[in-house]
Amino acid sequence: SNAKMETFEKLESAVRSYSRGWPTVFEKAKGYKIWDIDGKEYIDFFAGAGALNYGHNNDEMQEKLIEYIKNDGILHSLDMGTTPRKKFLEAFQEIILTPRNLDYKVMFPGPTGTNSVESALKIARKVTGRDTVISFTNAFHGMTIGSLSVTGNSFKRHGAGIPLHHSVSMPFDEYVEDQDSIAYIERFLEDSGSGVALPAAIILETVQGEGGINAARMEWLRKIERICRRFNILLIVDDVQAGCGRTGTFFSFEPAGINPDVVCLSKSIGGAGLPMALTLIKPEYDQWGPGEHNGTFRGNNLAFIAATEALNNWKSDTFSNEIKRKAALLKTRITEIIQAYPELKGEARGRGLMQGIATCGEGLASEICAESFKRGLIVETSGPKDEVVKFLPPLIIDEEGLKNGLSILEESINHVLS
Ligand code: PMP
Repeated sequence: SNAKMETFEKLESAVRSYSRGWPTVFEKAKGYKIWDIDGKEYIDFFAGAGALNYGHNNDEMQEKLIEYIKNDGILHSLDMGTTPRKKFLEAFQEIILTPRNLDYKVMFPGPTGTNSVESALKIARKVTGRDTVISFTNAFHGMTIGSLSVTGNSFKRHGAGIPLHHSVSMPFDEYVEDQDSIAYIERFLEDSGSGVALPAAIILETVQGEGGINAARMEWLRKIERICRRFNILLIVDDVQAGCGRTGTFFSFEPAGINPDVVCLSKSIGGAGLPMALTLIKPEYDQWGPGEHNGTFRGNNLAFIAATEALNNWKSDTFSNEIKRKAALLKTRITEIIQAYPELKGEARGRGLMQGIATCGEGLASEICAESFKRGLIVETSGPKDEVVKFLPPLIIDEEGLKNGLSILEESINHVLS
């Protein structure tokens, strides 16, 4: 594998490469499987950090994309209206928004998740005339200045060299039993206006992905919404990783019954892993004039095609019910593994097909992931100390794939602990 990595070491900065944990060159992928240049097969429990909910090279999407290119379809059109864009907007309204009784203006903020977060922060500032935003411990919202300023990870923030302003970090609804984060936030806001400024918005992930698979309780989310209404603060839900079915429903906040003012989507909204992001804005807050937020790559026509195809999965409850069934299976197996290896001091985290095992001990989760890679499973860590083994299989994975992946994981745990 050293020979395989040579190109990267020569041409790319080895310190910057984020995927050093998978020292090979990948070549092909289908569904939940991925192969390297030696033909070695891996089960993919990473799925592009949530960008491949519908699997690699999904048959229907692949067919539609090839057909479009063959017929000289427009690849780049900047902001011009195109057939793929029109079809996507119509399908999104009809399949996603209307049945859920949600009223949003859809905007394309740029190609990636961080672009969606930036646009959300900008609109909150513009609408309220305020500049700070409440975010949460262990939150991850992106790497650009605005989204990084609401990212609760000091290591990542150090990448910007100097402290970032405009955010106030509050305790997230984590696994901490004796912490009343709601009372803390309310107290802070009641004091606002005298010394500290009232914030423009609260931004949150319902399940923190990069921050350690911390799932907020539905009741906590409802309380946060109530706080937003009471203090006239916008509620921004960053559904970049937890959205598009990852937790079992299209939007991760659906079971809480809340109605965010702004919703950020990216990753799997592009269906086939193509760059795409959406920002959903309540109509009364859609206050930008033409050109006030634009960009060259705001609408990728290939992404629209795959995205429209992906939405077909949401026409009935079948897909959602399948995710929930597989999520229960995953939870059961995780619990069994934790019980079988008490030395792990493991804790099951997450909901839907966004789950993890929090481990104790420095480096343990990373060792498990490295061992899993050798045995043919792609799985990564998350959490402030990389202490969580995170499972994000494509939603289309079958029971066999899930079971095989978890067997490799268990063998790897066994190997690391013995
Ligand atoms: N928000 C969340 C919740 C994310 O998980 C991510 C990416 N991991 C982002 C925003 C940023 O998305 P991108 O990397 O596409 O800019």
